[in-house]
Amino acid sequence: MSWLPYARHQIDAADHAAMTAALEAPHLTQGPTIDRFEAALAEYVGARYAVAFNSGTAALHAAYATAGVGPGSSVLTSPITFVATANASLYLGGWVAFADVDPDSALIDPEVVDQCQDRNVRVVAPVHFGGEVADLECLAAIAEARGWVVIEDAAHALGARYHTSRGGEHRVGGCDHSLMCCFSFHPAKQITTGEGGAVTTNDPESYRRLRRFRSHGITRDLVELEGDDGPWYYEQHELGFNYRLTDLQAALGISQLARLPQWLSARRRVAGWYQARLADHPIVRPLVRPPGSVGAHHLFVVRVPEGLRRRCYDELVRQRIGANVHYIPVYRQPFYQRAGFEGAKRVGAETYYRSALTLPLFPAMTESDVARVVGALDAAVMEQV
Ligand SMILES: *Cc1c(COP(=O)(O)O)cnc(C)c1O
Repeated sequence: MSWLPYARHQIDAADHAAMTAALEAPHLTQGPTIDRFEAALAEYVGARYAVAFNSGTAALHAAYATAGVGPGSSVLTSPITFVATANASLYLGGWVAFADVDPDSALIDPEVVDQCQDRNVRVVAPVHFGGEVADLECLAAIAEARGWVVIEDAAHALGARYHTSRGGEHRVGGCDHSLMCCFSFHPAKQITTGEGGAVTTNDPESYRRLRRFRSHGITRDLVELEGDDGPWYYEQHELGFNYRLTDLQAALGISQLARLPQWLSARRRVAGWYQARLADHPIVRPLVRPPGSVGAHHLFVVRVPEGLRRRCYDELVRQRIGANVHYIPVYRQPFYQRAGFEGAKRVGAETYYRSALTLPLFPAMTESDVARVVGALDAAVMEQV
């Protein structure tokens, strides 16, 4: 049996052609392909602006910086996320406050967010875990009442949509309920540029700051320049980074983005096969999809009774299936324990973490792959049935 990974990107002839053409172009980086990728992404998500970065982590760092995170301020986020969501605040000298998740969905619990006592919170950063959309309408209302900024970590959720209580449909990345939205183009995600990321926004000031931050804090924009020594002139206005995506990667991104709709439907189909086979399963329960979320199906996570998780994991790996666990609550990391989260526990996150198991999900999976995974799970839990 071949190894079935939990995620797998797809590269086809169009990607090869796009990258070959980009290699022949006069610019390998900082050329016009970046602009084309950003325009295509902004159009796809329905935002005014997109700024490409060389990773999703850099995108988060830039978005937090743009929102003014720094010493004396905190980012309030979910503990069930990749460490980068929290780390990016620490890069800026900021701090992190961990809310809790609903263990049935692994999404941030707006009630816990609303009860947050940390007076330094400046940003609330919901994570659209697994590609399902956190309750942005509710979070945006809380953020407005408390004077916070919403920055979405949508690394899992390119292509996701959601409905609000009034019935409106919104696209993740369109920033109808946030100031900025961050994406990742790591190969495990919906589209890839190798490494890469982006921030989308509708706010012109944030757009300008994101672009400066990406390139050393330097601007050549005539409306921003304080002086003018001549056509060569540029100014550094703040301490930025070299967080630029290359034109080579942008060419791959454009080509990948064109196939996103078909990949999203393939992901939806694979998730549907899992749902059909696991409906009414006596032991294995898929995560609950929140009402209103039309997810992008990044991960397929199930919950199994706590005592059985290790056995399921081992049996899947024994059958050459790439089971995984997303995520270890961030405050459990030794770095965070030492940084001041010693003994921290969030009840929902702990409950979720003890029972969660990620099953393979990627566009090229077949129904027999799904049957193989569910068969392995059944073998692992058989005595319990
Ligand atoms: C992948 C990911 C990131 C970081 O993105 P990179 O492109 O790997 O830097 C951040 N947050 C979440 C939830 C992710 O899954």
